[in-house]
Amino acid sequence: MRQLRFDSRLLHASEPSPRPDGAIVQPIYTSSTYEHGPDADYHDVRYIRLNNTPNHIALHATLATLEEAEAALVTASGMAAISTTLLSLLRTGDHLIAQENLYGGTHAFVTSDLARLGIRCTLVDSAQPDTWAAALEPTTRAIYVETLSNPLLRVPDLPAVVDFARAHGLVSLVDNTFASPVLYQPATQGFDLSLHSATKYLNGHTDLVAGAVIGRSDLVREVKTRLDHFGGCLDPHAAWMLQRGMKTLGLRVRRQCASAHEVALYLQGHPAVERVYYPGLTDHPGHDRARTSLAAFGGMLSFELRAGVTAAERFLRSTTLAACAPSLGGVETLVTRPATTSHAGMSPAERAQRGIAEGLVRVSVGIEDVADLIDDFDRALMQAVA
Ligand SMILES: *Cc1c(COP(=O)(O)O)cnc(C)c1O
Repeated sequence: MRQLRFDSRLLHASEPSPRPDGAIVQPIYTSSTYEHGPDADYHDVRYIRLNNTPNHIALHATLATLEEAEAALVTASGMAAISTTLLSLLRTGDHLIAQENLYGGTHAFVTSDLARLGIRCTLVDSAQPDTWAAALEPTTRAIYVETLSNPLLRVPDLPAVVDFARAHGLVSLVDNTFASPVLYQPATQGFDLSLHSATKYLNGHTDLVAGAVIGRSDLVREVKTRLDHFGGCLDPHAAWMLQRGMKTLGLRVRRQCASAHEVALYLQGHPAVERVYYPGLTDHPGHDRARTSLAAFGGMLSFELRAGVTAAERFLRSTTLAACAPSLGGVETLVTRPATTSHAGMSPAERAQRGIAEGLVRVSVGIEDVADLIDDFDRALMQAVA
């Protein structure tokens, strides 16, 4: 399938041949277990928890080809992908280097759950490669970054992460959720594993929770063994929905990137707005790294209002098209205040130290007509500062 281009692979990379009953769309195989011959061994067992039913297999093929990787595995959620992968690679006494400003669930997992197992983690600034060597220990096994961070859209020095991992014999991992395979294909850039909350852009329709691990086949095989034991498998119905949602990934994400750029420019020019965080703006600290590493600047942005928290709250109450809700990457525009959602677990001082203002508003730009979106924001900004 390597010869087909990205958007065609989304549709055709995992079609069964011949098509069952001529069906253009693969059916949902709800069967939990499958027949096998009398002398079959454990490796012939097909069972939903073993992640090897026809819907799983089709998804694995699609996901691997989207990032031009050797293998892929779907999981019950993004956190199942992240936790199972880290528990596969690390054991008691091992050490991990990860970026600061991790996704909240991942931050809690590495700093509390891994710590309980005697696996330590040092957090580094992913944009400052010259600071990483100081974090190295004899038992460091892996380095973990995110293509775009939440909610300030920081961009790591991605080529330096790969070089550093190779130089020191570490496994390189990237959470590619915010960028999606449309913007960045980690395997082609030398990353060992890419992780996704497929809940977000991959599915894109805000109607399921799923995760994915994509990359080197030897590592994906190890993660699959752990996932088979831990039990975080994806239900075939959700697998089928994800396969359907992914067909429009290219169309959706390119539209979301274009609209987010327009919204960012509009907000930047608005007198009530103090600051806009979008990697496509030339004053964003990650702009050059995003321009060289990513195919586009993404569908996520954040901004601060000059009038602070109360204005932000009023803005969130006043939008009518954009719903106020956590999560991201779907076709509907969502707005949220990280201080009360994704970063509510931190103290105001911790948030301030990370540059997350109390009144910061995060926007996940959907596929609505961008003129309607800007009208909605325009009215809401007017009411926010009235
Ligand atoms: C949402 C998210 C996760 C967790 O995914 P779930 O599907 O909610 O378990 C992990 N990483 C990032 C960057 C996310 O946005």
